[in-house]
Amino acid sequence: MRPRDRSGEAGGASPSATGPGRRDASADPALVLDPIACVGHGLCAELFPEGVVLDDWGFPIVLAEASDPALRAHAKRAAKACPALALKLRATRR
Ligand code: SF4
Repeated sequence: MRPRDRSGEAGGASPSATGPGRRDASADPALVLDPIACVGHGLCAELFPEGVVLDDWGFPIVLAEASDPALRAHAKRAAKACPALALKLRATRR
């Protein structure tokens, strides 16, 4: 039995198109939140206020600005600091 595709893309991606060592020039990292894993510390909003705001209950809302290439280092830092591993930088297609 083949392992389930976890790429998040409908229909999955062929290994030859996205396998190790292959980079898509149109891929652009974006900050992605897993709302189930998030426990609402708010650390991400403190580290990256340009890209993350908190709702009334203290849970993050990722803003469109989070994908701005000029802010990528801040987004990366916020994702790395998330203690629940709920925030990730993932490649997206344009
Ligand atoms: S740092 Fe992680 S767990 Fe905390 S609010 Fe942000 S995404 Fe959620």
